[in-house]
Amino acid sequence: MAQGPVVIIGAGHAGFQLAASLRQNGFGERIALINDEGHLPYQRPPLSKAYLKGTGGPDSLMFRPEKFYHDQNIDLITDHAASIDRSARKVLFASGASLDYRHLVLATGARNRLLDIPNASLEAVRYLRTLDESEALRHLLTPGRRAVVIGAGFIGLEFAATARAKGLEVDVIELGVRVMARAVTAEISEFFQLRHTAAGIRIHLGVQVTGIESSGAKVTGVSLSDGRHIGADLVVVGVGVLPNVELAAAAGLPAAAGIIVDENLRTSDPDISAVGDCALFASRRFGGSLRLESVQNATDHARCVAARLTGDAKIYDGLPWFWSDQGPDKLQMVGLTTGYDRVVVRGDRAQNAFSAFCYAAGQLVGIESVNRAGDHMFGRRLLAANGSITPEQAADTGFDLKRALA
Ligand SMILES: Cc1cc2nc3c(=O)[nH]c(=O)nc-3n(C[C@H](O)[C@H](O)[C@H](O)COP(=O)(O)OP(=O)(O)OC[C@H]3O[C@@H](n4cnc5c(N)ncnc54)[C@H](O)[C@@H]3O)c2cc1C
Repeated sequence: MAQGPVVIIGAGHAGFQLAASLRQNGFGERIALINDEGHLPYQRPPLSKAYLKGTGGPDSLMFRPEKFYHDQNIDLITDHAASIDRSARKVLFASGASLDYRHLVLATGARNRLLDIPNASLEAVRYLRTLDESEALRHLLTPGRRAVVIGAGFIGLEFAATARAKGLEVDVIELGVRVMARAVTAEISEFFQLRHTAAGIRIHLGVQVTGIESSGAKVTGVSLSDGRHIGADLVVVGVGVLPNVELAAAAGLPAAAGIIVDENLRTSDPDISAVGDCALFASRRFGGSLRLESVQNATDHARCVAARLTGDAKIYDGLPWFWSDQGPDKLQMVGLTTGYDRVVVRGDRAQNAFSAFCYAAGQLVGIESVNRAGDHMFGRRLLAANGSITPEQAADTGFDLKRALA
């Protein structure tokens, strides 16, 4: 078991879970959990879903009330970690304070990729990653307002669906040829495009926003690469994130498209680990390096490092899964649905309930489900055990998935 203080930088899903799991595993030494957002550690997924709709106050997002940190003897510190002195094993903070560590965990997450076009810094150009950003946006969701969403990824589409349900006029601009193209199969893209269009959202594919139009400081619309103009008084940017690697890189730790860690989630310095959205980890399950942005990845990474620091070192081998709520539809994904060569549909698209089973060389590699939670849970159990079923079995709704598991 690690001796001496564990310092965790970042109290998102990964940092919070790490602190909680260390205590659950019986770690008895000091834990300092550092965050530069002025809130108790909170969940992000509702920020583009229930919270954005107006359900609940900030308390509904918190992982635990303040008392938890007190009772668990976790020092929750609001500050920004400015640098790491590895030879002195010290973290230096923006406030001027410093903390010694025995083991340091970087759980710094990711930040919004910013738009770099004329007028992108106007007040009505918004992003959606933090509680403060969601809080500000939810007050802008009033009927009749015109919103342009830049990017048809998960967050852009979740925002678009919520805004439309709140009575806004919504246009989504996407450079790719289909929605969520980087993350899902064409079957799922097509379904969601139809559903959002039927709800009254206008989706423009294969075009780029080249400028924000304004009258003084007020946004009036956007101009597109094909010469069109779309009127708007609110622009929401969802063009992806950048992992927060700078702190690690400045301390001489290898970083590229993430902080580079091995199969145990250790950086090149054995006293420093990295977890969650910021970590580019060596994956034995899939081969190569992966950086994932999901609650599953953040919390499973955290549990793996907590186990190592309390004497139960294991290779990280989590099975990726993810969900996205868009209007009335729930998308759930398991496995890695990239690199497939065959897709088999199970269920009924016309009934808004189906799954895309993805195969590579005859082996099931992932399942994307729309409103079919049973298929998703089946996939979680089957793929965790490295199992498969044939494409013919997947397509046959008479084939009993539960029996296949048994
Ligand atoms: C709107 C939204 C909806 C989402 N929906 C889903 C979903 O439906 N399903 C799903 O699986 N995933 C979803 N995600 C992704 C998921 O929330 C992230 O993968 C997860 O939050 C990653 O956790 P993390 O702890 O690695 O990083 P983060 O949550 O980014 O937390 C990192 C924290 O560290 C702080 N920090 C960074 N640098 C420093 C520093 N130097 N000093 C101090 N503090 C620092 C940051 O301010 C931040 O608070 C969503 C994300 C967003 C933004």
